[in-house]
Amino acid sequence: VEVKLNKKQIFIGEYYPKRNLAEFIVEKKNIPDSLAKITKLLSDININLLSGRIASEPDKNTSVFCFIADLTNLRIKPEEIAKKLSALDVVLNVKYKKSDINGLIVDDMHFPLLAISERSLLFRVETIKNMFDRLYEEFGTGAAVVIHNMGIAAGERKAMFLSSKYKLKGRNLLKIIFAERVSKGWGIPRLIKINEDKAVVRVDDLFECYPFKGKLKEPRSQFFRGYLRGVFKVIFGKDVNVVEKYCIAKGDEYCEFYISEKID
Ligand SMILES: [Zn+2]
Repeated sequence: VEVKLNKKQIFIGEYYPKRNLAEFIVEKKNIPDSLAKITKLLSDININLLSGRIASEPDKNTSVFCFIADLTNLRIKPEEIAKKLSALDVVLNVKYKKSDINGLIVDDMHFPLLAISERSLLFRVETIKNMFDRLYEEFGTGAAVVIHNMGIAAGERKAMFLSSKYKLKGRNLLKIIFAERVSKGWGIPRLIKINEDKAVVRVDDLFECYPFKGKLKEPRSQFFRGYLRGVFKVIFGKDVNVVEKYCIAKGDEYCEFYISEKID
């Protein structure tokens, strides 16, 4: 049964030409009614929130609510909104910025970027495609080997890291690794079959093959194919072969990887 997932807009910025936008960072007391008081105030002055996020830690006294607001056709200025917010008893501090240029606001008020506490960075799928393309232009089939090896190292390190961080192994470890791939936008991997030393993994919308959808005769994935090899090396405790049998790049409905014991 296919489950359609909701798309996730990362809190990077907004672009709506001709709109008047502003970003706010509100540091507040970490108590149950604080968010309600803030959103009540915003709704009283007719502010439409375009996007936002809330960051609280269970044992901390303060938390942060940040948002990008649409102030088009409103008389109130960002500095006045900040002043009103600051006057609330649950608010400790307010920072804000106006659109960088007409209708565009880019969030440069937060740094570093963290993913479950790990420093991270984002690339567009297009950028990764261009980087890999450049390698193929320069090194031909040698590039495939290099990209595959990068994948193996990344998969193996990820499996080791998560296994020690969350004390996981086997199916549970795989479950978290796959969930993380979804959360980070790589694609939607699913375990179709597993036994002692064989497995089948199906992936929807894999970043590596997605730009080539229906355009190629061969399967495209080298990095993720290697990544699975690294992951299953840790899961099975021995080296494995990974073959991408089906691939969206060659017109299949999904990419599907067959993992089996490596026999030299
Ligand atoms: Zn593929």
